[in-house]
Amino acid sequence: MGRAVSTLPASQAVLTVVWFRQDLRLRDNPALSAALKAGGPVMPVFIWDEAGEGNWAPGAASRWWLHRSLVSLHRSLVEKGSRLTIRRGPAERVLRELIAETGATSVVWNRRYEPAVRERDATLKAAFARDGISAASYNSALLFEPHTVANREGKPFQVFGPYWRHCLERTPEVPVALPTGEFAVPVKWPRSLALDELDLLPKKNWAAGFTPHRTPGEAGAAEQLKEFVRRSMAEYDTQRDRPDLGGTSRLSPHLHHGEIGPRQVWAALAHRSKSSGVFPLTNGDRVFLTEIGWREFAHHLLFHFPETPERPLRRNFERFPWAKDPYDKLLRKWQQGQTGYPIVDAGMRQLWQTGWMHNRVRMIVASFLVKDLRLPWTVGAQWFWDTLVDADLANNTLGWQWSAGCGADAAPYFRIFSPERQAEKFDPLGEYRRAWVKELGTGDYPEPCVDHAKARMEALEALKSISAR
Ligand code: FAD
Repeated sequence: MGRAVSTLPASQAVLTVVWFRQDLRLRDNPALSAALKAGGPVMPVFIWDEAGEGNWAPGAASRWWLHRSLVSLHRSLVEKGSRLTIRRGPAERVLRELIAETGATSVVWNRRYEPAVRERDATLKAAFARDGISAASYNSALLFEPHTVANREGKPFQVFGPYWRHCLERTPEVPVALPTGEFAVPVKWPRSLALDELDLLPKKNWAAGFTPHRTPGEAGAAEQLKEFVRRSMAEYDTQRDRPDLGGTSRLSPHLHHGEIGPRQVWAALAHRSKSSGVFPLTNGDRVFLTEIGWREFAHHLLFHFPETPERPLRRNFERFPWAKDPYDKLLRKWQQGQTGYPIVDAGMRQLWQTGWMHNRVRMIVASFLVKDLRLPWTVGAQWFWDTLVDADLANNTLGWQWSAGCGADAAPYFRIFSPERQAEKFDPLGEYRRAWVKELGTGDYPEPCVDHAKARMEALEALKSISAR
């Protein structure tokens, strides 16, 4: 089949720049579909704009994933007779350069919700409108966008239960179809950087353990969802808290980078309900959908409380007496999985070696940092940001503020996890701990770096000091 170069004369064919961001897929990609439907040639572009991300440029593990995901996106585009143009620099400047070089008159993208990115995008959109460049944005990342959801008083929700019940009264849109056939392409492609020039991969061989069980990119994401639905969905409710069983979807990096969208996840659940009409089909399906709901809630909170990546939602926590940790001695033990608490160390080593950690263990290690070591949640959030392949500003902020007791609908600070009891309950045979802490029981394993009972009392005292008026 020949390449679908636009047949309109160059003066009439509207060349549209499709600006890929956290939507690294072709299917269910409303910006891309809109550009293709417009009929003119499309020019897919990725811009590495670190400054545009404010304080939260992607961390090292996330960059590793991004690199692989861009390889995959470029390949998918080539299969469609197209390609990915890669540039770096401030997004507005780069887009203007591309427009000047190619004569494009229109730019489309899918929305993001991080405060710095929103600000950048709004400025850029207004500037383009003034200059007569058409700029349009779409929703690819959420079932229910934050600006469309409010409680009865017209305010943002701060408690998950009512939020999610409210959302479920609506039906999300169905995934957007990808037009068939090859993409219409520009007569001449602009210059592109080689992906390696973005320098996204870590210098050392740190990421060697990231690869097993993971295939960044759209095809890998679809396969991951398919396998999860086939093998684990129905048991998700009973297995999701067990790090030793691996019964969760592991879709988080795929969802973060937009290799798959929540509408597609919803559609997969709906498909399972097709013959019975019962939706969600099993309790496993229902609980899984609720977790997708927590992701929606996290974005709702980030959108309405944009200061929360750096500041606690509950302002009294700004006065919390965090412990002194000269030379970051305790912090380092936590980061390196050397605290002497096997479940904590197993989690931190899983994170370092694979770029991912099970949710239950994330909750345990986060609680240990903010309550047993009494170190600030922001320090933990920063470490996760750099080491998680799924590092996501909305989900990470929610997870840390939840664990520290200072966020919306958070676990109260006074409810302090005992690492030992958590381990007995959620890793009953010790398989998870032994898998990551090989030296357990050999005499090479460190003594506990703090006494949990004592640390617990100190944490409760510290809490009292900010609760007293
Ligand atoms: P599954 O259990 O299969 O869930 C399916 C999807 O639902 C996930 O992929 C994720 O997109 C979403 N989800 C599940 N649980 C949550 C949750 N509690 N909050 C928000 N979304 C959720 N998740 C991230 O994607 N990025 C982060 O940076 C991140 N940081 C976290 C930090 C802490 C301290 C805690 C306690 C949790 C954090 N989470 C984060 C949430 C959760 O741990 C991960 O989404 C989950 O472990 C990913 O594994 P999975 O894909 O197998 O999840």
